[in-house]
Amino acid sequence: MSTAAAKPGFDRQGELSDEARVDAAMRSFVREFGVTAAVHMEACVRCGMCAEACHFHVTTGEAKYTPAYKLEPFRRAYFREASPFAPIVRALGLVKKLGIDELQQWQELIYDSCTMCGRCTLVCPMGIDIAELVKEARHGMFKAGLIPERLALMDRAAQQWGSPATPPEDLPDILAEVSEEHGVPIPCDLERADILVTAAPAELGDHTKALADAAKILNRLGLKWTMHQGGFDASNIGFNNGDLKLQERLTKALIDTAVKIGAKTILLPECGHAYGAARWEAAKWYDGALPVRIIHMTEFLDEQIASGKLRVKPIGDTATFHDPCQIVRRGGLEAAARRVLAALGLPLTELKDHGVAGFCCGGGGGVVSNIRAAPLRAKVFEMKKAQVEATGAKRFVTSCGQCRITLEQGAKATHWTKKPESLLELVAENMAE
Ligand code: SF4
Ligand code: SF4
Repeated sequence: MSTAAAKPGFDRQGELSDEARVDAAMRSFVREFGVTAAVHMEACVRCGMCAEACHFHVTTGEAKYTPAYKLEPFRRAYFREASPFAPIVRALGLVKKLGIDELQQWQELIYDSCTMCGRCTLVCPMGIDIAELVKEARHGMFKAGLIPERLALMDRAAQQWGSPATPPEDLPDILAEVSEEHGVPIPCDLERADILVTAAPAELGDHTKALADAAKILNRLGLKWTMHQGGFDASNIGFNNGDLKLQERLTKALIDTAVKIGAKTILLPECGHAYGAARWEAAKWYDGALPVRIIHMTEFLDEQIASGKLRVKPIGDTATFHDPCQIVRRGGLEAAARRVLAALGLPLTELKDHGVAGFCCGGGGGVVSNIRAAPLRAKVFEMKKAQVEATGAKRFVTSCGQCRITLEQGAKATHWTKKPESLLELVAENMAE
């Protein structure tokens, strides 16, 4: 597949003609217009309430970042091609056909300036799930070869390796190195285990301490667990990119590997999109109930602490917490992280916007990997930084490695000395005997 930047603001992949790109996107959009999407398309009353919910709109003031506006091409495609009055709409030319220029310009709105965080969904009086519709729109953009090149690069790697950064055959060596560096056994490729443990790409690169700390906790609990070349990267780049085929393949790799080794549980890393893809969307590809339980690291820590199997020492400091959108607002784990922090003796001073209403870090949905979106991310970071400073809390904790990377990048760029900390690492560092 050859690639070329067409002009700043969008990228193109492959050799399709402009007409073929528009056709591919339209075919995908029309396929996505099931009953739910159609109801959402019909329901918008243009009240504008979603505008003040979106961190990209709030921090830039630019009208084009209004969530409802981000869906405009999707809406036009619906009214022309799939609404009950589509033939009349087309015959009378009531809605103009989408062209390649509009699709290309749209790329910035649904990839660079949407993290699929769902904050707009929360406030919409009509219950329109804009984040979900953006995800569906990305499926068409992927088919048209119109996604940010950085994401396309990761997609190609994941198609080959099952991970955007790590070939499976490198896993045993990487785990052996992490194991040696941190002094903790990390089982790999066991033929039988009760828990299949997965990682996010950073845990096999810059955040290896998080992986080693997960191993310390699992070993302390005496659990039979393993990582496995068959399915180890839970980040699911297909979920973010709009590559539904890849999303299915990556999800199945995790679940089928767990079934193969007899594991009843898949433990997801501190990664928001891993949770969205595996916990909430895996059922799409399995008839009936999933053959395994899929849980996030925060849920796991909460359960182990609540059951008394994992004991922690109180830290005794002040803290605030950044709620990862896919884990808290979209995933429902608002209370779990707070219970773990309470067990750690960290009374929370909440951010002005927190829990299900917390603002995104600015890097979700693949935005952190999209170099083009760096200036936008920087604006969002300033808002988050101001909220953290206003709490006066000494520690700043989160439970998503991708949020942590986004916040670390913002901190570095602004010479901010506060370091975002991992909830998992705090637990591992403070286990009681
Ligand atoms: S999902 Fe989040 S980033 Fe996307 S439009 Fe809504 S509030 Fe903005
Ligand atoms: S809040 Fe909902 S109804 Fe109002 S403009 Fe946004 S999407 Fe439309």
